[in-house]
Parts: sequence; structure tokens; C-alpha cells
Amino acid sequence: MQPFVYNALPSRVIFGTGTLDQVPQEIKRLGCSKALILTTPQQAKEGKELKKLVGDLAVGIYTNATMHTPTNITDDAVGLAQKLGVDCLVALGGGSTIGLGKAIALRTDLPQIVIPTSYAGSEATPIIGQTQDGQKTTQKTMKVLPEVIIYDISLTLTLPTQMTVTSGLNAIAHAVEALYAQEANPIIDLLAQEGIKSLAKALPVVIRGKEQDVLQARSDALYGAWACGTCLGAVGMSLHHKLCHTLGGTFNLPHAETHTIILPHAIAYNAPYAKSAIAKVASSLGAENAAQAVYDLAKGLGVPYSLKELGMKEEDLEKAADIAVKSPYPNPAPLERERLLKLLRDAWAGNRPE
Ligand code: NAD
Repeated sequence: MQPFVYNALPSRVIFGTGTLDQVPQEIKRLGCSKALILTTPQQAKEGKELKKLVGDLAVGIYTNATMHTPTNITDDAVGLAQKLGVDCLVALGGGSTIGLGKAIALRTDLPQIVIPTSYAGSEATPIIGQTQDGQKTTQKTMKVLPEVIIYDISLTLTLPTQMTVTSGLNAIAHAVEALYAQEANPIIDLLAQEGIKSLAKALPVVIRGKEQDVLQARSDALYGAWACGTCLGAVGMSLHHKLCHTLGGTFNLPHAETHTIILPHAIAYNAPYAKSAIAKVASSLGAENAAQAVYDLAKGLGVPYSLKELGMKEEDLEKAADIAVKSPYPNPAPLERERLLKLLRDAWAGNRPE
């Protein structure tokens, strides 16, 4: 065994079906009695049902969570929280809603119960990204790590088909980069392989499987998302996440779709320099070539596989390559502008990695 350092993050995780019923007792367990429920406008209905379930323990609901956590929305929600005198937050939704909860917690120190309904993994991380004046900045602070995560499989049954796949690939990306992270360690290694395996097995069944198998596959997918999200929270990410951050922030490309498209190319870029980690990815996917297996998985499930399809302009690829080499960070392969430009061109055209 190689020497390693492992920092476990404190958080309580409840996983199952029908676990939403446990929200009232979790609010009380935190010593709270005045919760503010958070959702996006698209999940307001689920938020209102949750408010009914929580009864007197919820004093309000805010249904305007928005992708990339704009600070004006946070200002608005903090204003409501102060007006209502809330003592905890209950965020129900994907990464955007959880991001709003974290942004409020950053400013107020309110404890958070989060109920993830996508596979993005934000619930398990002390990371917060916020957007002000079109600039997205990210910081890491334990102030934003949610105290309680409640995974309820039944809430993921409504996740639309395309988002199920792209969000699942977004989760797999956390695990892939955890396997070659500088802080890699045996616990995270095991979780990463388990997460990749579970999601890769579950996604085709959720999308194309027999109806009677979907619930079990949704359960496996959410379990995989928990494992992958834990990897994201525990170790630093590299080329793949930095590229996706640049493409999302500078060119306004959608989060999960961008991850899905870039991942096979980022794997191919790093493969010669992270042989053992990429071999673990391949074996978790039951394949010889990890980059091609990820590409085939996504393309086979009918989601966009080129940046072109997301509306990125070919002439912006040079600018993206410039940004990608501007501020260096740890990565198995050296960050070389010409190789990065080729990666971006392949991702733009939707080429299958070699
Ligand atoms: P999202 O939260 O923006 O969700 C997209 C849409 O799908 C929303 O309208 C949402 O309400 C809806 N939705 C979510 N779950 C649903 C369900 N089960 N049924 C029906 N509709 C559902 O998308 P996302 O990909 O989950 O999150 C992306 C955001 O999260 C980005 O801003 C990203 O930067 C952030 N993120 C942050 C971290 C972190 O650690 N800080 C990690 C991952 C993602």
C-alpha cells in the first residue's frame, strides 16, 4: 500500500425509498423548528408537497433556485430567510437548488438538510460556485457542507431521460478524476470504482430496460451518484472539471451535457500518464478502453456527444484552449496548448476517442 492521507467529511446520509418522510424528524434532530424549503420553479410542486408533509416545522418556501447560483437570487432568499426567522434550510432538487442552500448557509451559517434529485453530487461537497456579474467563482469551505443528506429514490423517477444520462455521466466524471487525483487514497478509490460500476450498469436499464427493472436501476444509479459525489467532496479534480468549468462559465454551456461530452476526451488525454487509474475506470466499465467505453455509453443512450450540438462556435475553441492553459493545476498529463486544442476540436466535432 502506498502512503496516503484521508480526510473523512462529517455528514449524515440517509438512503432509501420513501425517506422523504424522515424530513420532520431530521429537522427536530438538528434542534430546529423553522425550516425554509428551497426548490427550482420546475420542482415547486414537490416543494409544496414537502411543506405539507413537514407541517408546522416549515415556515416558508422559496422556489426560485437558478443554475450557477446567481448572487441576486441568494440575496433574495437570504432576505426571505431573515424575514421569516428560519433556523434551518431544506433543499430539494438538483445541483442548482443545493447550490442555493449552500450559498445561504455561507452567509448565515444555517444548517442544511439536502434532498438530491439528480446525480450531480453537490450534496456531498464543501464546494460552492457562485455567479456575480457573469463571473462564476468557486470556493471550498466547510461552512457549506450540508449536515444531512436524504436520498429518496422515488424522487428520481421523474428525472427526465436526457438529464438522467448526462447527470449520471457528470457523476462518473467525479469518480474518474478522483482515481488520478493527487490526494487519491484507498477509500476514495473503492468508492470511485463502485460509483462508476453502479451508474454504468444502471443508466442503460433506466433508459432502455424493462419497466419492472427501472426502480432497482434508479436505486443503483442514485447509490452510484452518492459514491461519486463523495469522491468529488474528498479529493481535488483536474483537467476534465477545469475544462467543463471554463466551457460552462465562459461560453455558457449547460453543466451536465458539457461533462458528458468532455469526459471521454479528457480520459484519452490523461490515459498515457495515469495508466493504473484509467485501467480501474476501464475495469469498472467492463471494457478495454475507458475513453471509448464512456463515449459509447453516452452516445448509445441518445444524448448530445459534440460541443457543436450544444451550440458552441468552432472559432471559440482557440479561446477555450488559451483559458485552459492560463492557470495551471495538478493533472496527470502536462497541460499543452496544442494537445488541449485537439481535445477540444475532437469534443466539438463529436469524434470517438482513439
Ligand atoms: P439542476 O439542478 O440545474 O437541474 C436541472 C433541472 O432539472 C432543474 O429545473 C431541476 O429542477 C430539474 N430536476 C432536478 N431533478 C429533477 C427530478 N428528479 N425530476 C424532475 N426535474 C428535476 O442541474 P444539476 O445538473 O443537478 O446541477 C447543476 C448545477 O450544480 C451547476 O450549477 C453546477 O455547477 C452545480 N454543481 C455543484 C457542485 C458542487 O460541489 N458545488 C457539484 C455538482 C454540480
